[in-house]
Amino acid sequence: MLLIASCAYQGVNQYPLSEAYPRQDQLVERLNQLNAGYPGVFQHRIIGFTDTENLPIHVVELGKGERNILVVGQHHADEVLGVAISMHIIEELCRTYQGNKDVQSLLEEYRLWIIPSLNPEGWRVVSAGLSRIKRKNNRDTDGNGRLDLRSDGVDLNRNYPVFWDLDGETNHMSSFYKGPAPASEAEIKSIITLGRRVPFELAIFYHSSLTGALSERIFLPVVEGEPPGFVRLKQLAEFYAGSVPRDYHRGTYSVQSGSSSRIGTARNFFYHALEVPAMLIEVGGVNREGQSIIHPPGKMVERILKRHNKAFMRLLEEMR
Ligand SMILES: [Zn+2]
Repeated sequence: MLLIASCAYQGVNQYPLSEAYPRQDQLVERLNQLNAGYPGVFQHRIIGFTDTENLPIHVVELGKGERNILVVGQHHADEVLGVAISMHIIEELCRTYQGNKDVQSLLEEYRLWIIPSLNPEGWRVVSAGLSRIKRKNNRDTDGNGRLDLRSDGVDLNRNYPVFWDLDGETNHMSSFYKGPAPASEAEIKSIITLGRRVPFELAIFYHSSLTGALSERIFLPVVEGEPPGFVRLKQLAEFYAGSVPRDYHRGTYSVQSGSSSRIGTARNFFYHALEVPAMLIEVGGVNREGQSIIHPPGKMVERILKRHNKAFMRLLEEMR
């Protein structure tokens, strides 16, 4: 009975967030510690600053190989599991690099570019305990000179300059507001510059949607039919999905079939504008009562981090 009770406890949301989640205001300190502790493998740089709060957007580079892989932990403010996953991948690679020949050989072949958060403004709010729910960045979209936590901001995953004009989300109060112009946001300009400079072989974007309706699935770019290269991308997505058990149900993640949204998302931009295979991984789960869990307690977070780290490493091996 005790075991059942403790398992059930894992299937709840917890806010303020547990300490298992990284905090925006501690990121620089954590990156500096990694830089000091693992100089042989760890590098990081700033790719840009946000418009409203002038917060840096960090990318961590691991490895010196010629095959470039991009991982973005966060676009949406309350979707913090991806930040934790990307930081965990960074820390595990640093920690194991010195004594592990497999990791060393992996990082001779690949160069991983990991952006823990592309939305540091939104992450700041959620990770500081100021708002459990928030999607967008902190742009003062209603121009009243202050931050309205629910209504201000632009949905960064609708702001990419591809299919932007087809997106009807023009109401600045909407959680899905696409922004005043394509690539209007500094966060998006920063990642586009990086994407144009580095020939990425694959881009992975972590999310954990609030509704739970999308969770534990991998989403691919919108395409007509199955163009060349898409079949391989789908295989890789299926491989990753098959490596991750669902949080509260039997079975594993799956790849969403059928049409994807024709809007200005990161995966559409990388695939259509830069010709980079790209996938969105929706973390977070739905518990047995049908409730969406995007901020599980610490123990569950640790389990999720381990599972995704393992799936990511397996994927890199599979691609060799
Ligand atoms: Zn999202």
